[in-house]
Amino acid sequence: MALLIDDNCTACDACRPVCPNEAISVGDPIYVIDPLRCTECVGAEDEPQCMLVCPADCIVPNPDFVETHDELLAKYESLHG
Ligand code: SF4
Repeated sequence: MALLIDDNCTACDACRPVCPNEAISVGDPIYVIDPLRCTECVGAEDEPQCMLVCPADCIVPNPDFVETHDELLAKYESLHG
C-alpha cells in the first residue's frame, strides 16, 4: 500500500529528496505523499526510504490504498516506463 505522512511531521524535508518516485511534496503545514506515485519503494529499494530517514517517525501505511507487491511493482513500472 502507499504510505502517508501524519500530523507529527515537522516539515524537515528529510524525506522528499530520497523518494525514487518523486511522490513527496511540500504541503501546508505538513508534507504530502501522492498515493498514485508511492510504491513503498517497491521496484527501486528494499524498504521505504522515506521511513528510514524520517526523524519524527510520522510515515505510516495509507489504509485507503491497500495494494499487493505485484500492484506496487506495476505502479513503479508505469511511472518509470
Ligand atoms: Fe517515496 Fe518510497 Fe516513501 Fe513511497 S515509500 S513516498 S516511493 S520514498
